[in-house]
Amino acid sequence: MPDNAGRSAAVIGAGPAGIAAAVQLRRFGIDTLIFEKEKTGGLVRSANLVENYPGFPDGIPGPELADRFARHLLSSGASVVSGEVLSLEYAGGSFAIKTEKDQYQAGFAVIASGTAALRPEGVEISRGAEPFVFTEIISISDLEGKKIAVIGSGDAAFDYALNLSKKNDLYIIMRGSEPRCLPLLLERAHSNRRIEIIRRFDSRKVEKYSSGLLITGKKEGVEGESLTTDRLLFAVGREPATGFFGRGLSKNIDLLSREGILYLVGDVKNGIFRQTAIAAGDGIKAAMAIEKVISRV
Ligand SMILES: Cc1cc2nc3c(=O)[nH]c(=O)nc-3n(C[C@H](O)[C@H](O)[C@H](O)COP(=O)(O)OP(=O)(O)OC[C@H]3O[C@@H](n4cnc5c(N)ncnc54)[C@H](O)[C@@H]3O)c2cc1C
Repeated sequence: MPDNAGRSAAVIGAGPAGIAAAVQLRRFGIDTLIFEKEKTGGLVRSANLVENYPGFPDGIPGPELADRFARHLLSSGASVVSGEVLSLEYAGGSFAIKTEKDQYQAGFAVIASGTAALRPEGVEISRGAEPFVFTEIISISDLEGKKIAVIGSGDAAFDYALNLSKKNDLYIIMRGSEPRCLPLLLERAHSNRRIEIIRRFDSRKVEKYSSGLLITGKKEGVEGESLTTDRLLFAVGREPATGFFGRGLSKNIDLLSREGILYLVGDVKNGIFRQTAIAAGDGIKAAMAIEKVISRV
């Protein structure tokens, strides 16, 4: 390990949590590498309007907030590595971070990798349909004049539909009869003429049809009901993005965390409390804890 690597930090993920950590680490003068496989700024770029991040009394569109975070990262002096972390391992007193192109070492690791979108179980998607099926809004945010079906009933499904309805017509397809989103999102969807909410539709099969898709399922208990759409976006939940954890690291998370050299911050560990301000706070706290450990040595 290079001489200064023991006092350096690697941050995996440049969303609100990772960026907040990197900015604070740099304020302490700690060498910081931050890894990001997509555009910096994080998942909040997918949000239609963020109304609960302090400092923006009128709310701020997700992409604008993400751009501000990205600019803040740029000005912090942290070194940004563009690429996916394929493995993070701890061995011989340091963290080894592997990307497709290179390998890096650091004395501290901050895991801020957020979450990955889930696909629903029990929905068969034909091979021909796959190119029209998505799990992240970013992939279709430029579409205009299309019919888009969003499957889901929570905040993300309604937020996606409101966002896409600026330029498209939407179905929100729910399996149950009651949405699980914030009442204010439901109200906005109800008063939006471009959004139709379809309740009690259990989607079973998605096939290529003409230039779009045919979704077949059970509606109100009746099998074989169908609807057509140009694109399909799933919003059925997310899980922690931890696929790059090495075996040694996975076994020793608690120990390394207790030693103050490994930190999990933001959505990757926050369960249902997945919010931007919480993620940013986690990142700052981890950086402050790292500085305390370094200053003790
Ligand atoms: C539709 C929608 C609306 C939302 N609205 C709001 C809202 O109104 N208010 C609010 O507070 N929050 C909202 N959120 C939640 C908010 O986006 C998250 O809480 C926040 O982005 C979490 O930050 P994070 O840094 O923990 O994770 P993320 O923002 O998910 O950042 C993680 C980053 O890590 C990167 N990454 C992952 N794995 C790797 C790897 N192996 N190598 C390199 N990089 C990797 C990812 O590409 C990503 O950029 C919304 C989310 C969605 C989906």
